[in-house]
Amino acid sequence: MAKRHPNPRLVKIHRSYTVEEVTKLFGIHRNTVREWIKRGLPTSDNKRPMLILGRDLRAFLQARRAKNKRPCQPGEIYCVRCRAPKAPAGDMADYQIVTETLGNLIGICPFCESMMYRRVNLTKLEQVRGKLDITMPQALRHIGESAQPSVNSDLR
Ligand SMILES: [Zn+2]
Repeated sequence: MAKRHPNPRLVKIHRSYTVEEVTKLFGIHRNTVREWIKRGLPTSDNKRPMLILGRDLRAFLQARRAKNKRPCQPGEIYCVRCRAPKAPAGDMADYQIVTETLGNLIGICPFCESMMYRRVNLTKLEQVRGKLDITMPQALRHIGESAQPSVNSDLR
């Protein structure tokens, strides 16, 4: 029987797992593990067999579980330590460039003072920002101030 909600506590954080071992641990299908990898579960690069670190697996499952409970609202960033979305301290966040169209919103959790990260698509920044005061890096300053027509605009 496949379990819909694998228990992160079954994962031993000091060992690594093959995909096969993960399927046995939780009684789930290979494709489920592949899906997790597609959704961001880190694996060892280019090694055979592919290995998943226990601590990565546990963190991934915990984050996923909490996300299912309550998704981030606009203006919120997920705090890994509190395991809940929080509005960052002072409603302030920095935008960090990852690729041309992807970035991270980085803020500080007002409860535990951890750094919080939220992956955002630059074109959707206005939808997720809520009441956040976002500091844009120098290279993108103009975007924070006005809509940028060259980025995948639906204004026609
Ligand atoms: Zn926190």
